[in-house]
Amino acid sequence: MRVFKFGGASVKDAAGIKNVHDLLQKVGYEDVLLVVSAMGKTTNALETVVAAYFDKSATLQSSVQEVKKYHNQILLDLFEDENNEVFTAVNGLFFDLEYFLSHNKSPNYNFVYDQIVSYGELISTTILSHFMSFMGIKTTWIDVRNFIKTDSTYRDAEVDWDLTQKNISKNVKRKVLNITQGFLGSDENGFTTTLGREGSDYTAAIFAYCLNAESVTIWKDVPGVMNADPRYFENASLLNQISYREAIELAFYGASVIHPKTLQPLQKKEIPLFVKSFINPLLPGTSVSKGEDLVPQLPCFIVKKNQLLVSLSSIDFSFIMEENISEIFGLLHQYKMKVSLIQNSAISFSICVEDKFGNFNELKNILAKKFKVSYTENVSLYTIRHFDEKAAQMVEDGKEVLLKQVSRETMQIVTKEAI
Ligand code: ADP
Ligand code: ASP
Ligand code: MG
Repeated sequence: MRVFKFGGASVKDAAGIKNVHDLLQKVGYEDVLLVVSAMGKTTNALETVVAAYFDKSATLQSSVQEVKKYHNQILLDLFEDENNEVFTAVNGLFFDLEYFLSHNKSPNYNFVYDQIVSYGELISTTILSHFMSFMGIKTTWIDVRNFIKTDSTYRDAEVDWDLTQKNISKNVKRKVLNITQGFLGSDENGFTTTLGREGSDYTAAIFAYCLNAESVTIWKDVPGVMNADPRYFENASLLNQISYREAIELAFYGASVIHPKTLQPLQKKEIPLFVKSFINPLLPGTSVSKGEDLVPQLPCFIVKKNQLLVSLSSIDFSFIMEENISEIFGLLHQYKMKVSLIQNSAISFSICVEDKFGNFNELKNILAKKFKVSYTENVSLYTIRHFDEKAAQMVEDGKEVLLKQVSRETMQIVTKEAI
């Protein structure tokens, strides 16, 4: 079986959905499982609904209407006949969402977030599945929540591999075209959970692992994995073949073309990963596989914007040692701050972190009881794998460098962008 992942960009409008159909005609769709994300920026739009719900804002209704209007337009563009049952199916999902909004009693933000944002994927897969059937291709729609079981860490759920493996091996049909939702799972009480933003790539890897799939292909609006994000770097070039190790490093440092959790399950079973263009699906794109020698011959640039550079120093001039460092890391883990760079000296400790869940203020107050805390917001972290002087110069040009760290393969530079 092959696993294909279609992200938000590939299904952002009616033309995108039609393109998925055409692409499948070209590359084949028997014995395939499609993992599909929410359409376009729907997850962001649903995050606005969550915020309005908690703020008890008057905009709650209109924020839901936005999401409805967007999908309704896509439905009207795709299906001539408003009596097509897809309209009832999608209306049903919006009805369920609105029912949740008016009946929910839980004050738990993360729980509510997952119950709401999950509609993005439920709706996109419903639309795609009906469209395929409209075009004469039979699909098997799978509710991923009956397959991927997780703990109850809402918004960042941990997969229960044993249960998930059992569900998938037993119940996913071979030789058909399966369609399921990326990003979602469910906990032991059957409540919806999510695997972290951009988590659909990971969903594809989970299914591939449990199905012993032949390969995973993630279909993108770029030709494959490039040596830099073409949005920020001119002249980015395609990497034809890279190793799992290289791909993990690139993803870990923030190359958003692959979600970092995707590689490990694939690497364990040596399932090849292809990253290809949904615009030119017959081009080879990038292949990620085993092989020590598959190292890019070019410097690879990764930029993570909107980071925090935090420096902690001891109040009484004592050393920052193992004990302090382990306490600091314990807190960072507890507050779900992702650390992307560490540097320490005798009495100070600097980290570059991402405050994905808006916890820094609270954490800062706790740290301030023991350390002198200083920080700079809105810094950018550039990572250059296989760096050379020219590459470093290119990054540093016109920017204020706050910190620089060099190891054998990797140079990291924290900058404050010139405004
Ligand atoms: P999806 O629709 O699957 O969610 P994303 O928008 O998350 O797709 O990922 C594709 C984007 O990743 C590209 O448009 C590109 O801007 C960005 N990107 C970041 N780093 C790279 C890289 N090294 N190579 C290619 N694309 C990259
Ligand atoms: N729809 C989710 C998100 O936007 C998951 C994904 O696209 O991978 O984060
Ligand atoms: Mg994405």
